[in-house]
Amino acid sequence: MNKMDIFVGGKWQLGRGKEMQSRFPGDNHIVATLNSASLEDVEDAVVAAEAAWREPSWRNMPAHQRAAILYKVSTLIDEQREELTHLQTLDNGKPWAEARGLVISAAATARYFAAVCEVLGGELPPRRQTDIMTISTYQPIGVIAAITPWNSPIASDMQKIAPAIAAGNAVILKPAEATPLISLKLAEIFEQAGLPSGLLSVLPGKGSIIGDALVRHPLVRKISFTGGTNTGRQLAHIAADKLITTSLELGGKSPTIVLSDADLDLAAHGVCYGIFSSMGQACIAGSRLFVARDIYDKFMEKLTVLTQNLIIGDPRQERVHIGPLISPAHRDSVQAYVDLAIQEGGEIRLGGKIPSDPALQSGNYYCPTIIEGLNNQTRVCQEEIFGPVLVVIPFDNEDELIQEANDSVYGLAAGIWTRDYTRAFKLADALETGTVWINTYKVFSISTPFGGFKESGLGREKGIESLKAYMQQKSLFLALNPQPNRWCE
Ligand code: ADP
Repeated sequence: MNKMDIFVGGKWQLGRGKEMQSRFPGDNHIVATLNSASLEDVEDAVVAAEAAWREPSWRNMPAHQRAAILYKVSTLIDEQREELTHLQTLDNGKPWAEARGLVISAAATARYFAAVCEVLGGELPPRRQTDIMTISTYQPIGVIAAITPWNSPIASDMQKIAPAIAAGNAVILKPAEATPLISLKLAEIFEQAGLPSGLLSVLPGKGSIIGDALVRHPLVRKISFTGGTNTGRQLAHIAADKLITTSLELGGKSPTIVLSDADLDLAAHGVCYGIFSSMGQACIAGSRLFVARDIYDKFMEKLTVLTQNLIIGDPRQERVHIGPLISPAHRDSVQAYVDLAIQEGGEIRLGGKIPSDPALQSGNYYCPTIIEGLNNQTRVCQEEIFGPVLVVIPFDNEDELIQEANDSVYGLAAGIWTRDYTRAFKLADALETGTVWINTYKVFSISTPFGGFKESGLGREKGIESLKAYMQQKSLFLALNPQPNRWCE
């Protein structure tokens, strides 16, 4: 198998680092072999990016022409939807329908930021002095380090590249070790769409080496990161030393709440999707479920039946709900949490094991798992498992519920299921999370800001304002009737 090139400062070339592979999690066969980026590659990419964003033809390019590149990107993604879906599924094992959804959303993200960048103007603040006018404008920041995880690469890559490019910056993308393919493909698409050379590099490699060297590089002026809270904290320290800004999308342990008056069918479908889609490998997975005690048994029966009927299998088949986890090591870590749940006094209601189907033994499959009997203080209820594991806790009153739901270091998302919108609003107001879904779960909108409270993150992605996070504001003061300032006389 030929080794794949990586994309360094506008050049396709073999990485100069260690050999690495992308494997299909459905059977762990090698999909592609490449060499990781080396520290020299980081240097070359950053130097090329710095030159490229300062290049007058890019700096002075009118916003609508930058937008045209992004529109072209979205068209190319739409045209290659099936191929990209296939690649995404091969790279990380996400079931076909979900992978396809991500590809569609990546195209939409490119279009959205193209539109925002075309219409984003500066501001004319009200005058405080009769003869002085002020203008507030926005300029690019420079070289942006974008670091992304393996769970939804095409979507998280695009959520960083599109606004950064729309704002006139250069971007160096460091994809996760397990999933370099889609990020390299995106580089090809941006190149095809006419993005000037050097403005985008893709450097696969180890986070602790290549990611670390990238964010520490003096010419890198912003870090945009999605991944684990511990890594995010380390990056925030580096950014603090350099006095640069960060945008951090981190972990979660999101509470989903089913009130007694909920439409139980609606809620059971939503809860099942909220935790088990993407095999729970999602920062917003609804992994802590609180159910009103008076409907607990009825609701849990419904949820159990739906979960039992989920189809586990090869994610390339369209009807499959549950594909493999990203790696054997990750599956071991999920199993270790299930073992811990039992030690902590939990009872396995469903799953808690590797599926027995002989056809699935070479992949990293794990059965959707429901655990009862734990209290919210246990480790399994507090730590992010990032797998298909749901813990369920009954509740008796709303004050206790709010306290428990908020008793987490995380604050990414929450779900509320009720027919009473007054109760829903009160609860939504009290929950310390960046997103609250009411009678739905895990739906996104590129025009609606997304991000976490507490240790789930800093800053917001998506929405018009997120473009400004890739820009710096500059204020101009214009004297309308210039007079000498006689102070020095
Ligand atoms: P996950 O638990 O989802 O794998 P990580 O935070 O470990 O989350 O990884 C998310 C991304 O951060 C990956 O691209 C990874 O390579 C990168 N990364 C991990 N450690 C570091 C680090 N010390 N510096 C920079 N990037 C890192």
